[in-house]
Amino acid sequence: MKKKNEKYKDYSDKVNQNINEIRKELYGENPNYKNENGNYSINENISAQNEINNNNNINSNINNEIKSNPEKQINNYKEKGLSLFVSSSFQTQSVPLLHIISLIDNSIPIYFINTGFLFPETHDFKNQLKHDFNLNVIEISSPISKHLQKDEQGNFLFCNDPNKCCYLNKTLPLDMVLQKYDVWINGVRKDQNANRGKLNMEEKAPHNTLRYHPMLNWNAKMVWDYIKINKLKKHPLENDGYISIGCKPCTDKYDADLDGARNGRWAGTNKTECGLHTDLITK
Ligand code: SF4
Repeated sequence: MKKKNEKYKDYSDKVNQNINEIRKELYGENPNYKNENGNYSINENISAQNEINNNNNINSNINNEIKSNPEKQINNYKEKGLSLFVSSSFQTQSVPLLHIISLIDNSIPIYFINTGFLFPETHDFKNQLKHDFNLNVIEISSPISKHLQKDEQGNFLFCNDPNKCCYLNKTLPLDMVLQKYDVWINGVRKDQNANRGKLNMEEKAPHNTLRYHPMLNWNAKMVWDYIKINKLKKHPLENDGYISIGCKPCTDKYDADLDGARNGRWAGTNKTECGLHTDLITK
């Protein structure tokens, strides 16, 4: 059995791919961020990180550049008179997008789907980030009460029919939100799984809604680096080995012996998505 630190190192090694190209896309050609070899040196090594962490002006420049593309796109949507909302599961992976949105326009509604099965720590983290970033968080839940969400044996649906459980508790409530807005901003990334790897920056969604994916070309290392540079908080369960955190019955700790950052979700089954990023896309 590997120790926790070894597992994190394995994971970090796996996700540290093509980072220069992605950084170039995010940060542009600013020479301040390159090392003597012409590579984008942010987060490339500890000394570069320390240098950046110790320089608030550079950090501010980084934040400005990182948020500039989403800011342009969001302003573009607004100029067209489109209504916007964000969805977030309030885990560590969510922090950069929530921070960026708070810098651009913290009045944009952030929808949080309370399935009724989340870890208490996720509710605590949501409240913490709402306070820290002054976010406009709106909590939603399934219109189908829990006593109607049991099978004939009286078990909750996640025991034997997780797809139906996810539909009732995640997809359905968000589908109802889609009906009220023009643009849905969410934080999916290509590196998270094969399905998300095929997504485009914009995709059509039901009810004539447009999906916008500003984090699509980030990877997990960039998420952690952004959090470190900006001295932001991580989900409290991260230190216990949880990397991707959903509902308590369907979330295990990250396993370095398995592929994928989301391998703790629905572990032991072939389910990889709840439906938000498969069913709520118009093919
Ligand atoms: S993740 Fe599990 S508990 Fe949560 S909605 Fe899906 S099946 Fe139900």
